[in-house]
Amino acid sequence: MKRLLVIATLVAPGAGLLWFTLRPATDASYNLPLFHFYVVTFITFSAAVISILLSVALGPAAQPRHRLAATAFAVIGSIFFSHGLATPGALIDHFHPAVQWSAWLTLFGGGAIFAIAGLETARGMPRWLPVRQVIYAAAAGTVLYTAVAALTPQWLTFIDSNVAPLHKNSIFVITLALWLFAAMGLWRAWRRTRSRVDGALAFVACWLAQATVSMHLFTVWRFSWWIYHIALLVSFLVTAYILAAEYEQVRQFRLMPYFVAISLIATALLALAASALFTQFSYGTLTDEVERAISNSADRLAGDVSQELPGTAGPQDLEALAQDPAFGRTMGFRRMGLQITEMAIYDAQGIAIFASRPEDVGLPADDPAEFAATQAGATTAEVQPPPDPNSPGYSASLNHYSVEAYVPIYAAGAPSGPAIGVLSVWQDASSLDQAIQRARLTGLIIAALTMGLLLAALLIVVRRADRIITARTEELGHAYSDLRQAEGMRDDLTYMIVHDLRNPLAAILGSLDLLPTFGTAEQAAMRLRMVDNARSAGQRMNGLIDDLLAVGKIEAGELKPNFLPTDVSALVAARLEAFGPQAAADKKTISIVCPPGLVAELDSSLISRVLDNLVSNAMKYTEPEEGVIAVSATADDGRIAFSVRDNGEGIADEQKERIFQKFVQAPNANTTPARKGTGLGLAFCRLVVELHGGQIWAQDAPGGGSEFVFWIWRSRDGL
Ligand code: ADP
Repeated sequence: MKRLLVIATLVAPGAGLLWFTLRPATDASYNLPLFHFYVVTFITFSAAVISILLSVALGPAAQPRHRLAATAFAVIGSIFFSHGLATPGALIDHFHPAVQWSAWLTLFGGGAIFAIAGLETARGMPRWLPVRQVIYAAAAGTVLYTAVAALTPQWLTFIDSNVAPLHKNSIFVITLALWLFAAMGLWRAWRRTRSRVDGALAFVACWLAQATVSMHLFTVWRFSWWIYHIALLVSFLVTAYILAAEYEQVRQFRLMPYFVAISLIATALLALAASALFTQFSYGTLTDEVERAISNSADRLAGDVSQELPGTAGPQDLEALAQDPAFGRTMGFRRMGLQITEMAIYDAQGIAIFASRPEDVGLPADDPAEFAATQAGATTAEVQPPPDPNSPGYSASLNHYSVEAYVPIYAAGAPSGPAIGVLSVWQDASSLDQAIQRARLTGLIIAALTMGLLLAALLIVVRRADRIITARTEELGHAYSDLRQAEGMRDDLTYMIVHDLRNPLAAILGSLDLLPTFGTAEQAAMRLRMVDNARSAGQRMNGLIDDLLAVGKIEAGELKPNFLPTDVSALVAARLEAFGPQAAADKKTISIVCPPGLVAELDSSLISRVLDNLVSNAMKYTEPEEGVIAVSATADDGRIAFSVRDNGEGIADEQKERIFQKFVQAPNANTTPARKGTGLGLAFCRLVVELHGGQIWAQDAPGGGSEFVFWIWRSRDGL
């Protein structure tokens, strides 16, 4: 069912054309130059703007044939725009060759680009036909043609008068072949990809092949000829919609191009509407003037006729005068003097008794109502629009405005008496055509300029907004990726902590499991060691948890240190004592240098843990039996400096700052992280030292190994 519907739509234009060929009587003529001018100009302009925007927005990321399809419609819209502008009688009164040429080249240019798009195979575009160059060539061709049409239309006329009908016929055949070729290529692409865009493009190529027939082989203004306008519009809408929908995800939203496109379209719409209104307005003024002028001429001519009649003349005298050849000659001269094209004199019954065109004698007046009004004494004048080209007896020379006036004829010297006949004059008003076209063009230019300027001013604001939006979007992007990174780190940390808590816990549980098996007195020493192990593992776990909680609290600003005067030498000694058994077990040496009686205001539990962390790191990163760890505290300048030095593996220069960040662990010599902890200890140390208003850093120890130094103020006074 769906397939049937698609096929029916596909051949609809051709079926219509066939019908009109078989039944030409049904092929009504719609001679609508102004509709053609306003609607075609506006739609093609909008289509060109949208297609250009689309081909720019698609960019190189899109499939080459899809980009080419957008370009094809940019060319179609741009060239067809000049077709609309050149509509005869809208802005230019004479026939302009661009009307025909633009129509031909619209389908020819579009067909050529579509045919190139149809060349794309599964391996891409042929190497000798790079898409970018095709797009540039299409743009250059369009600009070149537009320039020729606008500046040197005589070139086109020259070809028309010397090559016709060969050029017209060959363009038709080539254009049709291009569209059919494109339809086949794109259909193959659709069979390969089954993508809706390729299907739609093959469909559009078929439609435009039929449009080519409608344009070249059918009579202008007939419905069969209008079909190609409809086909072009529908094809554009289908292509633009399907491309925009397909590439929605890859398109990056930017305010500017959308604003420019909408502004241009709005400007065109408003300029055309303003031009139509301005023309309407000017038309009233212009026709008033023309009508007044002809009424004056008609009055004077009627005066001349009266002069020829005696004062008491009746209708029969007028009839006698009309027969007089001398009168005819006089009127001929007067008519020329007053620039009146044709004249006629009617009797009281409204039948012509004299006419500048002898064949009109004996015919009734054109407009009985006006005739009657004139007989009653009024002078009437009316502008007549150009006649309908489909009316019988129409000729191209009549294709402009005219003005007709009726005036009463009185006997000489008796203007107050009854009218004895009616004079009708008819004047060619081709100057009115030009004036109206000028008004249309003026309205168009003024409105386009004012609207254009206004929108250009707004463009500055939009550009700024666009920049802000882009910058904010980027910032948000960065913030988002930072957030993702932080999330990743948190997950890693959770894993590490869980992992690292398992080791001390295993040690605790292992020791506790073994305890009951050592029941004898001799085994008391062994039991004691087990308990010691369990305790130190428990303490390690506690330290880890403390670090984690403390870092979180300090960062959240929730941890308030408890500064109290503290004996620093006792504090350092106590910490080292705690590491004594482990140092003895690992056969490492720990020494301490600290002047006695050194007192400072500090949070003893936090600073103790800082020392714990530094010493435990020194223990971790030195080899058993070789490790030498030296701790010192010195007072100087109101500050106390602490140092924990070891002769371990040392720290590479580029890591010396990084290791104070949370979760950072320096890779060891093999560049794999030597994961003996969580990377949290030094971050905790830095935060605590900073809370005390001090600084901490790592440096190389003389003779190898590393040294961690930090200082804090001795007194809180004056801080
Ligand atoms: P960790 O729990 O990994 O020890 P820390 O924040 O205490 O976390 O240390 C961060 C990193 O700094 C360690 O992974 C290690 O690479 C390096 N580091 C710290 N102290 C020393 C040291 N005394 N000698 C060599 N490297 C050290």
